[in-house]
Amino acid sequence: MSSIDSALGSQRRRLCIAAAGEWLRRHRRGVLAVQWAVVGFYAFLLIVPAFLPLPGVAAHIWDNLTLFAQFVFWGIWWPGVLLSMLLFGRLWCGVFCPEGALSEFVSKRGRGGAIPRWIRWPGWPFAAFVLTTVYGQMVSVYQYPHPVLIVLGGSTLAAMAVGYFCGRGKRVWCRYLCPVSGVFGLLAKLAPVHFAVDRQAWDRCPPAIMRRQNIDCAPLVAVRTMTSASPCHMCGRCSGFRNAVALQLRHPNDEIETVSARTATMWDSLLILIGLLGIAIGAFQWASSPWFVAVKQWAALHLIEADILWPLETSLPWWILTNYPGQNDVLTILDGAVLLGYIAAAAVFLSAVAAAALAVAVRLCGPWRWQRFHHFAHALIPFAACGVILGLSAQTVTLLTAEGLVLGWVPALRALALGGAALWSLWLGWRIARGYGASPLRAIGAVAASAAALAAPVASWVLLFWVW
Ligand code: SF4
Repeated sequence: MSSIDSALGSQRRRLCIAAAGEWLRRHRRGVLAVQWAVVGFYAFLLIVPAFLPLPGVAAHIWDNLTLFAQFVFWGIWWPGVLLSMLLFGRLWCGVFCPEGALSEFVSKRGRGGAIPRWIRWPGWPFAAFVLTTVYGQMVSVYQYPHPVLIVLGGSTLAAMAVGYFCGRGKRVWCRYLCPVSGVFGLLAKLAPVHFAVDRQAWDRCPPAIMRRQNIDCAPLVAVRTMTSASPCHMCGRCSGFRNAVALQLRHPNDEIETVSARTATMWDSLLILIGLLGIAIGAFQWASSPWFVAVKQWAALHLIEADILWPLETSLPWWILTNYPGQNDVLTILDGAVLLGYIAAAAVFLSAVAAAALAVAVRLCGPWRWQRFHHFAHALIPFAACGVILGLSAQTVTLLTAEGLVLGWVPALRALALGGAALWSLWLGWRIARGYGASPLRAIGAVAASAAALAAPVASWVLLFWVW
């Protein structure tokens, strides 16, 4: 193929992708119809199972609404949404998310107040992710419909309340407070599509057109200066604005290799190291861990010897700690304390080891810079994302296996995914180190340090999926 043919092919591809962005902008009504359909489906699966009796042992996904809702939410919905972030950026947020749609809808009819300073605190995505992940484990959110109603329904009500009081027709909740917005923003950095902004075209745009056009960017993105896919909900409303914004393809590594050098923050590092590689792994792991059982037995023995029996006998209401005597599923205060201790210990150990290893990578590339540390932390996003997707999809596997499906290929797929994601992260570590001017030898050292950062998380997933 001649170079002219290849240039024409790539121009055609650019136009096709840009046309998809334009399609989104032109079909707002269709997008709204989809959003309301998802809102209805979500509300039905959220509310109705909470008023039905818990499923018996003979119930199946296809004949019991509670099990069906459990399978849809945790087996398909959440792993699918996370996967979609890697493929299409935050298209889910802009086109399908029921919470975002409701928050924006209420905000259009609400008080339209200013956004308070406390809402703008950049640590909310990290704090909210940690709190919801830990609380979800305490109340067994994956297993029972009442905690689902509290966790997801509570989050939706909070999103609507924030929409009512703050912003005019904007998604203030999604921008600042949503417990998964931080994770979504990190994963979207790897998406091969994004809304690209041509700053020069933007500034060249004739004043007549500037006056005519206006962007209604619900998540309040500063579109002119947007360089990252993290805050963009891919709604397409700005497509074609000032002839400067268009949906475009990009290399999945582009943003982390280049843009993250300027945009990576301390909160990103905390979310990657403590949130995704620490707390999330501890949360997925504790129920299968023999260490959890050993610590619990050790603590129980000491309590019995000291004649302190109430932690072994007392349970709490189901909305604080799992309490379903009819299902033989009750956590005592001791169980709850060991659960919290396990997740905290996993978070401290895994994140401290990873942070120390990344610090070595930074020093191998020159003098200490926190910005470089946060940049190297971004290199771990592929592995962190893969772990969370596999952890959530373990629910899918459990539910389908309980239905009698033989999924013998799953371990091989998991190994492939974890291995591929680890190699992807190491490649990003190499590119970042070389980008800082490290010699090949020092860059190899930085890659080895990144590998050390991943060693404990890799071992944790190996234990969970293959050893325990
Ligand atoms: S920048 Fe805003 S308006 Fe443009 S696609 Fe992203 S979310 Fe939509």
